[in-house]
Amino acid sequence: MGLNKREITLKQKNLLLHSKITQQHPEFYNFLKENKNNDITEELINQTSLELQDFIEYILPNIKIKAKEEWTAEEEDFKDLEQNRTTCSLCDNPNVRYVFYVTNTFTKEKLKVGSTCITHFGVELAADPQILIENMKRSTRLRKLNKLIPGIQQKIDNWLSKLKKYKIIIPENLSQPYQANAKEARETYNKFLDNQLPLKEAIIRLKHLLRKKEGEITIKNIIKNKPKECYI
Ligand SMILES: [Zn+2]
Repeated sequence: MGLNKREITLKQKNLLLHSKITQQHPEFYNFLKENKNNDITEELINQTSLELQDFIEYILPNIKIKAKEEWTAEEEDFKDLEQNRTTCSLCDNPNVRYVFYVTNTFTKEKLKVGSTCITHFGVELAADPQILIENMKRSTRLRKLNKLIPGIQQKIDNWLSKLKKYKIIIPENLSQPYQANAKEARETYNKFLDNQLPLKEAIIRLKHLLRKKEGEITIKNIIKNKPKECYI
């Protein structure tokens, strides 16, 4: 017999208890239910009927695979709970912030799991769980920023297009600082989304840059700063 071959981990036990296929094997299902709060060790398995021991050794490996395949997850079945936390249905970790929801194809039961435990199901995700979490973190940060500076993403995207709206040549002493500010705003925005800059600091910097932007390029300023040979 292989080393610890018959051991059933906590995660396996929880997954099996929620899967339909397990219920087709009542003796085993009841054994899991009775030991919901116990570790299922080799020693414990040795105390069960020989029939159950055979089942665990020879049939269970296949059941484990089938159980995983009962579950699906959609892209929208993933959430950032922000300040809240939930408990993982598989490993009982009570500190899950980024939660994946998996649904049983047969029973429609939904389980909440963390990014490690999602990999224990046979579900296909759009990307690696860690990448999904990174993307989720960015969109949470963008939402916070947008609340304080509405339309910030569009404002930054359109920053430089304002220069093109003028049918005249903008003097370099006006256009250069304007472009430099646009670049700084873009960098500040990206740094914040990459979590390299705290929200408060990003807001102060961006508001300052936006204020400068509003005052910089106006017809009045262009006339004031026009080179002598330029007529508008
Ligand atoms: Zn877990």
